[in-house]
Parts: sequence; structure tokens; C-alpha cells
Amino acid sequence: MPTGLFGGSFNPPHVGHLAVAEACAEAAGLDRVLWMPAATPPHKQGDPALAPAEARLRMVEAAIAGNDRFVVSDLEIARGDVSYTVDTLRRLHDDGLGGLALILGGDSLAGFPGWREPEAIVGLARLVVYRRPGDRVDLGALPEWIGGRCTVVDGPALDVSSTELRGRIAAGRTVRYLVPDEVRGVIEAEGWYRPGGGSAGIGGA
Ligand code: ATP
Repeated sequence: MPTGLFGGSFNPPHVGHLAVAEACAEAAGLDRVLWMPAATPPHKQGDPALAPAEARLRMVEAAIAGNDRFVVSDLEIARGDVSYTVDTLRRLHDDGLGGLALILGGDSLAGFPGWREPEAIVGLARLVVYRRPGDRVDLGALPEWIGGRCTVVDGPALDVSSTELRGRIAAGRTVRYLVPDEVRGVIEAEGWYRPGGGSAGIGGA
């Protein structure tokens, strides 16, 4: 069954993530999208705004509830340490998953050549890219071994980010309709992203 891997910090998950996963699944004919919260993303090591992995896992579970195609995995969180996509794809491949696709926002594609073993990644999965406001996706400017493996998905540009949402929550502003109600419930019940809030006492943006 064609499976999409959708990795991220999901700190918190928001309506942009949901729209991206849905549109990419439709465009690439994916039967399943595996949401993969990173234990520690390589570019966010030591980031004090990163909520604990278990809290982000709970928020993703809350976000995707009710969508039969969406599944959350704790593979990277259980592995711990810094999460590299190539390791995760190898593991999925070894588990017998074929037809792998890696779902990315356009901003992530810009940094992709600097990821660990990008050649191995595109050997294991094709890339399905959803444009993001301000990204600089230009397939022609990418090396052929990357550009030739990319499908760009047309959809409305969604100018929402976890960073902006953390800032809103820290300032006591509403995020209603920007995150699913179920995610808002977890954030409010557990106190994430408020100054001094959450069990880790993490702050805002
Ligand atoms: P932060 O603001 O904390 O950096 P983020 O909103 O970019 O977070 P991530 O969890 O880092 O969210 O993103 C996971 C994946 O989803 C990445 O590939 C990212 O490019 C993509 N993504 C997130 N939001 C959007 C969006 N609004 N449009 C397109 N892609 C998005």
C-alpha cells in the first residue's frame, strides 16, 4: 500500500499540517499517511520551545483522530536522540513498506540537499511537496536527482506555522480554528506554550 511519511516537530500540529497531508495523499494516491513526530529534529536541538516528545505525540493523535488514512507512529520518539529521515525510511523499507513517499512543505525542500544522505532518501522515497508561502521551490534549480523525484502539489498557500501559534498562545491570544479543537483541548489542559506552562515550563516562540 503506497504510504506517505510526514515528519515534523508538530509543536503544535495545526490546520496547515492537516491540509498538506490530505492534499499530498490525494495527489500522490497514498493509502496511508504516517505522521512521525521527531524525537529531536536535527535543526531544533536544544530548542527551549520544543514541547516534550510525548506531548507532541498526544497532540498529533488528537489532530488526526477521525481520518482513516492518517496514522501516527512513535518510531522516532521511541528511538530517541536526533531523528534522521533516512534512518526512518530505511526502517520502513526494511519492514516491507513499498511505494514510499516523503511529504514535505516547500520550505523544507530548500534545505533538503543538506539533510543526512539525501541521495539515499530519494532512493527510498519519492518527494511530494506542498508549496508554502515564502518558499523558493524551483525544481529546475534543483539537481536532477532531486527534482526528478519531486511531485509538487497545487493547493492554496496556507500561511500558518507552529512558531506563530506558539507566539499567539504565549500572548494569551486565541488559536481556535488554527488548530483542531481536540489539539486545543490538549494544549489548554496541559498548559503548553504559555510562559511557565506545561510540565517542562517551556515558553513561547
Ligand atoms: P515551526 O514553525 O515550529 O518551525 P512548522 O509550522 O514549520 O513548525 P513542522 O512540524 O516543522 O511545522 O513541519 C512539518 C512539515 O510540514 C514540514 O515539512 C513543513 O514544511 C510542513 N508544513 C508545516 N506547515 C506548513 C504550511 N502551512 N504549508 C506547507 N507546509 C507546511
